[in-house]
Amino acid sequence: MLSKSRKEAIEKGTKTYFTGKYCHRGHMDARYTANGECYTCREDRHMREKGEDCYVIDDGYFEREKKREDERKKKMIDYYQRNKERCDNIIRGMGLDPATPQWFQL
Ligand SMILES: [Zn+2]
Repeated sequence: MLSKSRKEAIEKGTKTYFTGKYCHRGHMDARYTANGECYTCREDRHMREKGEDCYVIDDGYFEREKKREDERKKKMIDYYQRNKERCDNIIRGMGLDPATPQWFQL
């Protein structure tokens, strides 16, 4: 079961958690318990650390970001549909309405 807060993840000793909220850079993604960083931020940081600064500023950046975001959304929806019951329980546990998970509203 996915923890919905970092505190809970630390208590349970799980490596990741999912809050259902956007990170400070606007990603809807699971986060690492170790530092609270979301998957996408971590990916971006790794790109930057590899010296690929142009990745952030070139013309295609926002387009690629959007595409990646769309693909992530598709994967989430696909995952949701295949694991509906489990996901609904998680969503209810977060105090949200399973009929309208947040990623459907993006
Ligand atoms: Zn992020």
